[in-house]
Amino acid sequence: MLIHHSLTDSPRAASSPASSIHGLKYLHSAGILHRDIKPGNLLVNSNCVLKICDFGLARVEELDESRHMTQEVVTQYYRAPEILMGSRHYSNAIDIWSVGCIFAELLGRRILFQAQSPIQQLDLITDLLGTPSLEAMRTACEGAKAHILRGPHKQPSLPVLYTLSSQATHEAVHLLCRMLVFDPSKRISAKDALAHPYLDEGRLRYHTCMCKCCFSTSTGRVYTSDFEPITNPKFDDTFEKNLSSVRQVKEIIHQFILEQQKGNRVPLCINPQSAAFKSFIRLLRINPTEAFQFT
Ligand SMILES: [Zn+2]
Repeated sequence: MLIHHSLTDSPRAASSPASSIHGLKYLHSAGILHRDIKPGNLLVNSNCVLKICDFGLARVEELDESRHMTQEVVTQYYRAPEILMGSRHYSNAIDIWSVGCIFAELLGRRILFQAQSPIQQLDLITDLLGTPSLEAMRTACEGAKAHILRGPHKQPSLPVLYTLSSQATHEAVHLLCRMLVFDPSKRISAKDALAHPYLDEGRLRYHTCMCKCCFSTSTGRVYTSDFEPITNPKFDDTFEKNLSSVRQVKEIIHQFILEQQKGNRVPLCINPQSAAFKSFIRLLRINPTEAFQFT
């Protein structure tokens, strides 16, 4: 039985930047943008296994830059500057921004950019990163660009990140600065973040004694060829076209869970005694025994 805590409630948060970027690498390789990465959507269990949940705002990536995407995404504190500036098209870099904010929050034990409104949110970001260049604002709407240019020219104040905590080492701050980049095209990808020295060391420690993918022999440890597997081909949502009833959706989810449990993965478990589950059931006003019947 696994009891899940949301990330900010959990004392076991230390490994979470690595785990969440690990999860994002997989999602992004599948061509999926989560679009609501926040502490409440990262669940950590007693074994420090982290799961990304709530895909209510997720979508497949849009490669055609002329196609408009909704800006009504991501909880404000974790919203990337390109969305705050009204870009009509954005990439999976928005999820990396959110993880960067969470990483800083775990170090400092407080929300990094805690603003009352989207405009103030943008102002807090530019207080830290400085006034963005015109190039970095190339996809912004005119109103947002005018707001930035009207204001005073700000110098970046990134060294303040060292004051977040005693754990804000040079490598931690360096990685943070690569995630919290105003221009999404220059922001680090999930794949490159995992190879960053700050995460690489922990990754090696994990694969030296805790993983299931590598093994020891008399001559030494044999490591897997890929520490963070990706998916191939990309996620295909065409199967949804054949779903026309709740019953069919339940069946397909049940099938999915059974298939996951055949592999090496940590099974998806819900603790029906947990307060979160009980309040969820109360919210739905359904009988708990009916909630997870799939047959
Ligand atoms: Zn391994």
